[in-house]
Amino acid sequence: MIVKIFRVVKCPSCFLFQVTGASKSLKCLRCNKTKVISSLKIFYKSGLAKECQLALSELKKKEFENKEENHDDFFSYNTKSSNSKNNIDKNVDLASQDDIDDLFNL
Ligand SMILES: [Zn+2]
Repeated sequence: MIVKIFRVVKCPSCFLFQVTGASKSLKCLRCNKTKVISSLKIFYKSGLAKECQLALSELKKKEFENKEENHDDFFSYNTKSSNSKNNIDKNVDLASQDDIDDLFNL
């Protein structure tokens, strides 16, 4: 009896998580590129396809959460850049204040 092993892998070309029942080569579901499975990182391995599907959905969920975090970073970056824009505006105000002082000194 041959035990079929299912693996959760990530396509190195398009980063799609997928379950494969193949043992030697993976044909990516999204980009159709063929990869040698031994060269891929195996995220989960089981004789039960259902377990692999579960692991796959967990990985996809984590990936989604990570994207959400990156999204927050993007927002905080925007806040920082708008703050620095305010600083520049203040600097401009200070510079014009100096100009006025210079005029008084003259
Ligand atoms: Zn792919």
